[in-house]
Amino acid sequence: MNIHEYQARELFQKFGVASPKGKAAFTPEEAEQAATSLGASQIVVKAQIHAGGRGKGTFDNGFKGGVHLCKTPAEARHLAEQMLGHALITHQTGPEGKLVSTLLVAEAVDIAKELYFAILFDRTTSAPMVIASTEGGMDIEAVAEHTPEKIIRVSVDPLIGLQPYQTRKIAAALGLRGSLMTQATKLFTALYRTYTETDCTLVEVNPLVVTPDNRLLALDAKFNFDDNALYRQPGVAALRDKSEEDPREVAASEFNLNYIGLDGNIACLVNGAGLAMATMDIIQHAGGKPANFLDVGGGATKEQVTAAFNIILGDKAVKGILVNIFGGIMDCDVIAHGIVDAAKETGLSLPLVVRLEGNNGPAGKKTLAESGLKLQSASTMADAADKIVASVHAA
Ligand code: GDP
Ligand code: MG
Repeated sequence: MNIHEYQARELFQKFGVASPKGKAAFTPEEAEQAATSLGASQIVVKAQIHAGGRGKGTFDNGFKGGVHLCKTPAEARHLAEQMLGHALITHQTGPEGKLVSTLLVAEAVDIAKELYFAILFDRTTSAPMVIASTEGGMDIEAVAEHTPEKIIRVSVDPLIGLQPYQTRKIAAALGLRGSLMTQATKLFTALYRTYTETDCTLVEVNPLVVTPDNRLLALDAKFNFDDNALYRQPGVAALRDKSEEDPREVAASEFNLNYIGLDGNIACLVNGAGLAMATMDIIQHAGGKPANFLDVGGGATKEQVTAAFNIILGDKAVKGILVNIFGGIMDCDVIAHGIVDAAKETGLSLPLVVRLEGNNGPAGKKTLAESGLKLQSASTMADAADKIVASVHAA
């Protein structure tokens, strides 16, 4: 799960991570009021979307930039008028962009140096890892590619946490001395606490800035939270903004289905993540393009299968469906009943290929055969992929 920057700043405040004052605004009037109440000589107005690269983005009305500096509340209002209600297109949003319905109006600071600081979960070492760089404010991927020596990596032992000698080592590598080193130690420690206590998988501050009067401040924030820990993080879960997520994925999460939307046209419904990935591969191999990853799990109920079907059919790009079930714990007949119910409920007219093998397979096949549904049975995965690709191409 991700959150907006204005929400991240609230978390920063709670955990004592130094960051300029700011307020969320949902209308141009609120943007003006927020700017007035900040009483700052310089203000920054920032579009709130779950994507980076906002500064260099463009709005669908031609307005350039999702991050703007201004001096007066009236200017903040004017900027808000051009940003709110419009989609912002950045290199992370895709060509359709993301609708901006919230702005962060914050006190702007002068910048002497932009740095990069992140803590993320490193799956290779199964431990948190700090990544820092003197090259802040830009794409860290580009820095890693062109000047990898400018990336500092420090692995953290999860049992003892980020140690003072490590924060000093990172600060020194970033060229932070004297009072800045003291501030860095405090800020890095507070960020590490935020990371562990809210069950993050990523907290990224880009840029972390040094001001001309030697203050160290987090100017931007990106958070990823571990979805599997949300049950014990009600405060974090409440920050979820479903309008930022793929509506197909929101619907799937309500039924505990593992669904990832893709941009092909052959939908797949599979039990087991490994089998689902193999199914997408074999569709691709047969010359088709998968519309989604969907794992209904090992013990799916009829309701979950029906919900899965409805989500698939709600996707207008879908031109054919491949059901690939290997029943271990899963009862093939439950899947078969789910398919029949969903197909009847939705008046399914798309080509449907079903491969059912394993636990109670013959009963499942019988249910499908007697349902009167127009579908093709397949014996192997390769056969199933060939059949669905041929049907979609013929349609
Ligand atoms: P992103 O483009 O989505 O990563 O958004 P950022 O929050 O990182 O803002 C983009 C850039 O705007 C930053 O890298 C800074 O250079 C600049 N910026 C953001 N806030 C301020 C501020 O308070 N003062 C100044 N001078 N520049 C800012
Ligand atoms: Mg940034």
